[in-house]
Amino acid sequence: MHTVTLIRGDGVGPEISEATLTVLEATGVKIAWEEAIAGQEALDKYGTPLPEATVESIRKNKVGLKGPLTTPVGSGFRSVNVALRKALDLYVNLRPARSWPGINSPFKEIDLVVVRENTEDLYAGVEHMVGNDAAESIKIITRQASERVVRFAFEYALKHGRKKVTAVHKANILKLSDGLFLETARQVAEGYPAVEFEDRIVDNMAMQLVQKPHLYDVLVMPNLYGDILSDLCAGLVGGLGMAPGANIGDNAAVFEPVHGSAPKYRGANKVNPAAMILSAVLMLRHLGEMEAAARIEAALKAVLEEGRAVTYDLGGSAGTQEMAGAIAARIKAG
Ligand code: NAD
Repeated sequence: MHTVTLIRGDGVGPEISEATLTVLEATGVKIAWEEAIAGQEALDKYGTPLPEATVESIRKNKVGLKGPLTTPVGSGFRSVNVALRKALDLYVNLRPARSWPGINSPFKEIDLVVVRENTEDLYAGVEHMVGNDAAESIKIITRQASERVVRFAFEYALKHGRKKVTAVHKANILKLSDGLFLETARQVAEGYPAVEFEDRIVDNMAMQLVQKPHLYDVLVMPNLYGDILSDLCAGLVGGLGMAPGANIGDNAAVFEPVHGSAPKYRGANKVNPAAMILSAVLMLRHLGEMEAAARIEAALKAVLEEGRAVTYDLGGSAGTQEMAGAIAARIKAG
């Protein structure tokens, strides 16, 4: 039995969470859910978008599954998600992007994994005005944060049978900050002779990802480039409805779709549950439930191939729950 903290989230979060639970239940994996709240719901109830009890629950259980959160305007938090990642030191943002059948995309057979540094770079939030007419944002790169994220990328490659890690940077211009990231990546790579290592300058990488995505495998990069290129990779495989993610640290991991709370579709039973279902697949693998993870992927593949019980973004007219129900039925049918 696994104990996992469940945050259903705001907007469409409760619907895609329910859909994901339907699919997980069909696998028979025993999970005790400890429900916690964050975001708008928590602000209304407790006056803070990130109650300590929620952080504590994930800290205790070490694993969380989370729907998207609406960052309440004027709450004093720049983003609840950023605050949660900071509180638990979830220093890796993992975003796999792979092609699925039945998805309208000019790109086929994509299988990429973006490993994004999650704690520093321009996202450290160190910025200030210089007088009235200039602003300064400070890009922070440390050896320690670079080392642990690159090490994660290599360990991930080894564990998942991947052949190559590419470090992405702009060290030709940002000689000190990105230079330190690249130097650290090269040093870490020496400890993993079984995995090929190379580096690419970020602008060239963006072009190559749309021209020759099949040349790449695991990509590791500082926070800002990771934010941008992981969305590019999600675009290669059919958009936000199909993009899962995970935030991982040494002591806890939180699995969540890349997309937000899509407030305009709240309660409409309309959005694609696959991004959150695939986030749960990442969670199952993290928990060592490899077979259940593979069964969900096979069922999703079959439902997408058939193309009947799919949501609007995939060209269908099924609702969130119908799509999840079809996946669950496939799992049960074996
Ligand atoms: P969004 O991702 O919520 O929605 C943008 C558009 O993408 C939607 O209107 C919809 O057309 C489409 N879309 C998103 N998810 C989809 C799905 N599962 N299936 C089909 N189509 C889908 O982005 P936004 O409107 O910029 O943000 C809304 C709120 O979400 C904001 O408050 C933002 O802060 C928050 N947000 C939260 C997270 C998170 O919790 N991890 C991430 C991003 C944004």
